[in-house]
Order: sequence, then C-alpha cells, then structure tokens
Amino acid sequence: MKTVVLEADEIMGGQISLVDVAAAINARWNRAIAKPDTFLTAIVTDTRELVPGSLFVALVGERFDGHQFVAAAIAAGAVAAVVNETAAISETSYPLLRVADTLVAYQQLGRWWRERANAKIIAITGSVGKTTTKELIAAALATQGSVLKTQANYNNEIGVPKTLLSLEPSHQFGVIEMGMRAAGEIALLSRLAQPDIAVITNVGTAHIGRLGSEQAIAQAKCELLAELPATSVAILNDDNERLIKTAATVWQGRQITYGLTGGTVQGHLIDATTLMVEGVRLPLPLPGQHNALNYLAAIAVMQALGLDWRSLAKGITVTLPSGRARRRAIAADIWLLDETYNAGVESMTAALHLLAETPGKRHIAVLGTMKELGARSPEFHHQIGQVVKQLQLDHLFILADPVEADALAAGAAPVPSEKFNTHADLLERLQGFLEKGDRLLLKASRAVALDQIADQLCCQS
Ligand code: ATP
Repeated sequence: MKTVVLEADEIMGGQISLVDVAAAINARWNRAIAKPDTFLTAIVTDTRELVPGSLFVALVGERFDGHQFVAAAIAAGAVAAVVNETAAISETSYPLLRVADTLVAYQQLGRWWRERANAKIIAITGSVGKTTTKELIAAALATQGSVLKTQANYNNEIGVPKTLLSLEPSHQFGVIEMGMRAAGEIALLSRLAQPDIAVITNVGTAHIGRLGSEQAIAQAKCELLAELPATSVAILNDDNERLIKTAATVWQGRQITYGLTGGTVQGHLIDATTLMVEGVRLPLPLPGQHNALNYLAAIAVMQALGLDWRSLAKGITVTLPSGRARRRAIAADIWLLDETYNAGVESMTAALHLLAETPGKRHIAVLGTMKELGARSPEFHHQIGQVVKQLQLDHLFILADPVEADALAAGAAPVPSEKFNTHADLLERLQGFLEKGDRLLLKASRAVALDQIADQLCCQS
C-alpha cells in the first residue's frame, strides 16, 4: 500500500472502492449503484460522522436502527449503504449493498482494513486498568511515531472495528482497547484486530456476576492470546498468578512479563514519582503502584517492538478521561481523588492504597456499591471494608445498597463509618465534616453517580 498524506476527512485515503468492499463482505449490490468503482472517503455507522463519499453501514442498536437513517445518509452524500438482506428499503431509490448481517459485515471490514494497515497493532484487555494502560502505551509510543488509539469507550464489537477502520497508512502504531462482558467477546475482537502485541493487565472480579468465577474471567481474558498470529508477543502482568497460569494453557509463543516483584521487565518504585527499570530512572506519569504496573506494560511493549524505551527517562504526560485518578480541589488544602467513573474490587483496593499514600491530615473514603458482583457481592464489600481498616483511614462514608453498606461498615470497623441513602444527605454531611488537610477518595460503580457529589463538592469553594 503506498503512503499518501491524507486530509482529516479522507479516512480511507481514496484507495478503497465499493467493489473492493462488496467483495470483502460478500455483499449483493443493487442497480442503483451507478459507479461501483467509486473510491470511498470513509466507512461510517453514524450519519453525524458522514462526509461526502462515505459508505454508510446500517447497524441495528438497542435504541436505534441504522436502517431508518439510510435515506438521510444518502442525502448527506453517502455513495451507498450496507443494509441487512431483509431490510424493507426501496431497491430502486437507494444504492445498497445487501448482506446477511450488517454488524458482521462491519467487523469483516475492520479486519480487512487492518490487514492492509502498516501499523503494528497493540491490543489491551484485562479486568482493570485497560484505559489507563492504553493511554500510557499510546503516549509512550507517540515518542517514537504516529499512533492511533481507541477513543472514548469504543472497546467493544462495534468500537474495535470502528477504530481499525480509522487506521491510516501514516499510522505506525494502533493501540486498541478491548472490553468484554461475556465469554467469547475477546476472541472475536482478537480475530478482528490480529494483534502483533497482546497485553493483559490482570484478571480480577469485574463482571464475576455474569461470568461465574475468577477462573472463567481468566479464560475469557486469555481469549486474546488463543488466536494470536504465531509471530505475536504476549505481554502479561507477572504479579497476577492466575493470569500467568491460564495464559500458559493457550499461548506458547513469545512472552514478556512485567511486575514490581518479578517478571522479565521488573520495576522498583524508588519513591512515589519514580520508577527504576534496568538501572534507568523513569518519572511516573501517573501516581500509585497500580499505575507503575500499567507503565511497566508500556515499557514492555516498547521492548517487544525493539524501541528506545530508555528515552522515557525524559518523561511523558498522560491525561486520563474524567473520573479516573483525578485530583480536584474542594477548598484551600482540601482535595479529593475523583475515581467516580467506576469501581470493582481491584480498582477500589488500588485507589484506597493511593489515598492512604497521599500526604494529608485526615484520609477519608467515600465509597458506594460495586455492581455486578453477583452472589459474592457482600463478601467483596466486606473485603473492601477490611482494606479501609488495614490502611487505618480516618473515616468512611457509604452510599450503597443496604446489604453492601453493612458489609463495608462491618469490614472497616473500628474505622468510624456513616451510611447514607441519598446524595443530598451525604453531600450535606460532607460539607459540614470537611476541614483543612483532608484528603478524600470518591469511588463507586458508575450507576451510583458519585460524580454528582464530586462536582458539587468541588464547585463550592
Ligand atoms: P473499565 O472496564 O471500567 O472501563 P478499565 O479497565 O478501562 O475500566 P481504567 O479506566 O484504566 O480501567 O481504570 C479504572 C480504575 O481502576 C482506575 O481509576 C484505578 O482506580 C484502577 N486501576 C487502574 N489500573 C489498575 C491496575 N493495574 N490494578 C488495579 N487497579 C487499577
């Protein structure tokens, strides 16, 4: 594929025609397609992203059916629409490519385009730390070349092909995040992305309510490795024994492990802001031991690709999406760690450690329910309460379902705790409670909406 300089809206670089696409997805095209050899500018599923010359793929979602937007897409300049065989759309009015399933076709296009890409593809999955590790890897690789990375939360069966279809000939690296809610999903995403490098950050308890056991989660994460091309490299968190053991059952190819206590790439924390790797002092872009681990994954990726990882000694800057490890001021010398984006056992534990390590007068945890933990939910909440106790935090505020709230408080005792049923009551109590030198952690599953408390606390100063 020849390298061309692209305009921002010429995603496919004027190299892909409708005929190519139709062949790649085994589509039947209708007579309304006057010029099948037309070059495409982009492949989109959302009319708001459409530029003239795009191919529109009509996906059927939970809330919208893309087939209802075919007319609008063609009116906005789409050269054709990929639609389901059974969709009731006029054959004579619109240029259509008919397929059995538009989602499968979109995924096939993602893989097909990926196979034509120049970029090295780095895929990342794990129970926790995916987005952070993706951002760290992307920032580290950006010191060496042009990087495409997953945007927003496009890490599923639609988001991964979307990202793959954004690859341009100029990209040297594609950093692709892969999320899952059930077994089989990562295997599909791995087949689409054909990663050169596959990173698994850890195996924990997220989605255990759906998957049943930690071992089932480990197997689901390791689907990433099962179908890797033989020349690929697996990069695994050495601190996670279940992950290492499960990976060994599906991957016998090249492997790099990373960790703070072992692994082929081993790091030592010199202080809160510096990581030592093979005698090189590296400034930590993000605080906390868990982020040191995530950074080691990025260093391992650079090593796997034969890149100059030592140049990271100059430091890199990473900004995470909101609700993750964000320090926000409430008033003079009172601030909170905004972790309100989501929570599970591992991330709650990591964030509590980060709170405890933060210099300050009082350390206060404001915690809510961790969802999707199934029958073991009270046990896991009790476990988190015990972390609060072990870390000797000063106070625990709880906004959680009654069983989980009791479990948190019981685990944390004798750390004083208070339970709340409403955001308003919790906010009022916090406003009266806080004093100079306080450090807070706010963390819960997204559904608890602790971000509302964070926003209200932080705009009161
Ligand atoms: P999700 O699947 O919910 O989108 P994710 O896997 O993308 O999450 P991140 O968004 O990177 O995870 O991190 C979420 C939170 O998890 C962080 O704010 C931090 O509290 C914690 N975390 C990040 N990395 C790790 C890690 N390696 N181990 C434990 N906890 C971590």
